[in-house]
Amino acid sequence: MSSKLSSGSQGPPASSLRELQAAHEIAHAFLTARRPSEVYRLALERVAPLVGAGFGCVFLRDGEGDLLRIVAAHNWPQAYATYLSSMRVRVGNGPTGRAVAENAIVEVADVFADPALEDWWDSARELGFVSSVALPLAFRGRPEGALTFYFREPLAMGEADHQLLRLVANQLAATAEKAHLIDDLQRANDRLREQNIDLEARYREAEEARQLKNEFLANISHELRTPLTAILGYAYLLREGLSGTLHAEQTASVERIEQAGTALMDLINDLLDLTHLKLGRTSVERELSDAGALARAALSAALSTAVHLPPSVQVRSELPPERIPIHTDPVLVTRILQNLLSNAFKFTPAGEVVLRVREARPDDPEARLPREDAPRGPVVLWEVEDTGIGISEEDRETIFDEFRQVDGSATRRFGGAGLGLALSQGLAHRLGGEIRLRSQPGSGSLFTLALPSGVVRAGEALAGASPTAPSAPADQT
Ligand code: ADP
Repeated sequence: MSSKLSSGSQGPPASSLRELQAAHEIAHAFLTARRPSEVYRLALERVAPLVGAGFGCVFLRDGEGDLLRIVAAHNWPQAYATYLSSMRVRVGNGPTGRAVAENAIVEVADVFADPALEDWWDSARELGFVSSVALPLAFRGRPEGALTFYFREPLAMGEADHQLLRLVANQLAATAEKAHLIDDLQRANDRLREQNIDLEARYREAEEARQLKNEFLANISHELRTPLTAILGYAYLLREGLSGTLHAEQTASVERIEQAGTALMDLINDLLDLTHLKLGRTSVERELSDAGALARAALSAALSTAVHLPPSVQVRSELPPERIPIHTDPVLVTRILQNLLSNAFKFTPAGEVVLRVREARPDDPEARLPREDAPRGPVVLWEVEDTGIGISEEDRETIFDEFRQVDGSATRRFGGAGLGLALSQGLAHRLGGEIRLRSQPGSGSLFTLALPSGVVRAGEALAGASPTAPSAPADQT
């Protein structure tokens, strides 16, 4: 019996050459293919002639069961092509099934010499093979399939042939395993990409919904203001006696309408301002101002509207006699300070509320602002300090969020909607600065509004700015 596979007397150098060539062909298949099935097909195409096989195929487990199906075939007679896709081999049955079950090479030297393989004889005659060799394909030690070559002549294999076949099987299994892993990764990647597209679409939807909500809030707040202005206007006329003299009880009722209406108007204004801020519609109109004058204006506004200030609270201001110039929006600054002062009045049952203002030089650590890119210049610091109820460390993180209050219960002692600090912090950021908070629960709080002064005095340059930086007011936002 002769065999094309047999190395005969060619000796070790020739067999090593064939092994090298086989390894090379499989590596080439791996590098060329894009899917594991293609690796099998290309490897079969290139290795079959090398081992002298007429045709060959790769069987793999069909799912988790013990049936094997053909995933790649090379050179099978065309007439059998459709039959191949539906063909299943049970693990343990026939030479291929046994190779998988026993994780060993199963060689059929001559089909027609073995009566146990009589069932095969017709197909063998039609397909034109006489012998076959089935090699197990093991992934991580577990046989998951087989590589079977069919030969047109009887086999007579020596140790060198076995060695070559083992190498082919091992090399193909290792290569295919890598290809499967890459394939899995690619599929996972594709899935992730799809999920990402989905997430992006949902994010856009959420963003649109948020935008719509803000638009809605802005519109509704605006619409609420018109009738409320009329209510407050008529209440004023009534109180002033323009529709006839009121008796004491009527006056008290009208005053209550005015108080409640004003509180509602403040809330609507806060809501409107906050939504405008979030929609990026808050305009900033800077002008050269005096930080002390802004503090005084905010304090008198807060005092005139204070409904919570008990007589046991002393209000003081410590303002320097000299001007502290700042190039900023005076209306927005006053608004922020008024909010901080009203809160201090509201949350201080006894003791004092102090308002201070000072300027921090650029090298002062307190002059550090969140905007890293801003040129380092002087920073104006307004401090509102109270001896009130204070804020715990945990709450210090959340009170700047909208609608957040330390006590959010319906039975809380202090009124409010939780918008003031969110709005104030948003405005401070819009002006290029921030609001800082230090507090001791039970002892009091210190809120600091820090804003870039935007003013460079003669002989002083902004760190990070060009030497020709203006010495007049400089806009930093
Ligand atoms: P509002 O005052 O309308 O509730 P804010 O946004 O102004 O809303 O404040 C949020 C919360 O922060 C308040 O409800 C309160 O719990 C806490 N807070 C604000 N300022 C002070 C302060 N000076 N002392 C103690 N708690 C304060």
